[in-house]
Amino acid sequence: MSTAQAQGNLEYAGGMQTFASPQDARDHIKARLAGAFRIFALYGYDEGAAGHITARDPEHPDHFWVNPFGRHFGCLSVSDLLLVNHEGEVLEGDGLVNQAAFAIHSRLHAARPDVVAAAHSHSIYGKAMAALGVPLEPFCQDACAFYEDHVVHDDFFGVVLDTDEGDNIARSLGQRKAAILKNHGLLTVGGSVESAAWWYVAMERCCQARLAAAAAGSITSIPREVAVATRQQVGTEAAGWFSFQPLWEMISARQPDLFE
Ligand SMILES: [Zn+2]
Repeated sequence: MSTAQAQGNLEYAGGMQTFASPQDARDHIKARLAGAFRIFALYGYDEGAAGHITARDPEHPDHFWVNPFGRHFGCLSVSDLLLVNHEGEVLEGDGLVNQAAFAIHSRLHAARPDVVAAAHSHSIYGKAMAALGVPLEPFCQDACAFYEDHVVHDDFFGVVLDTDEGDNIARSLGQRKAAILKNHGLLTVGGSVESAAWWYVAMERCCQARLAAAAAGSITSIPREVAVATRQQVGTEAAGWFSFQPLWEMISARQPDLFE
C-alpha cells in the first residue's frame, strides 16, 4: 500500500473522488459498473451476448471486473460481476468470460495504466458509423469531446479471439479516449467507470446525430481552434465523470437491486 493509500487518499477519476481504502474504491467501482450495464440496457445497447464493460481493480492493477458472458446487461447486479486476471482466469464470481472481452480488454488495461474502465458494445449507430469507417467530425459541441481524441481502427479480421488483435486495437487507440472499430462498433476508455460509460453514451448519440445530419444535408464542421478549445471544456476526465452523475442518480434510484 502506498503512503497516499495509507493516508486514506486513494485517487479516482483523475482526483474527482478519493477513497479511504481499496475496498471502498472497489465497492464504488463495482456499483458504478453494474449501473453502467443497466444504463446500456435501458438505452438499447445490448445485442444478444455481445458487449462488455471492464473496470480495473483498485488493489490489483492486473485484475479487472467484467460482466459474465451470456447474461443480459439489464439483469446484472454487483454480485454478478467477475474478477478476471490478465491470464483470463476467473478469480471471483460465477460465470464464463467472453473471450473477446478478455482478448481486447486485458491488452487495453495492460497498455494504458491510466485507463480504469473500457466499454464496448454493438449499439446501432456506432455500428453504422463503423460501416462507413470515417471519424466523427466536430459537427456539434458534444462531438468536440472526441475531436482529435479518437481513431478509426480499420482492420477487421472477424471476432476478436486472441490477444494479438487486442494489442493491435490498443496500439491504434494510443492515448485517445475512443475508437471506432471498423465494421464492428465503438470502444471507449476512461479514468473511471463513470467517464468510460459516459463517453460511450455520448459517442453513440453523436454517431446518431451525425448520420441524421449527413442524411439530411451537408455537415458543417466547427473550426479547428474552436473544436480544440471546446474539447478542453467538455472532453476532460472530470467532464466525463460529471456527465455520468445524472445517469447514476436515475439508475441507482430506479433500480436499487443493482447493489445486490
Ligand atoms: Zn464486439
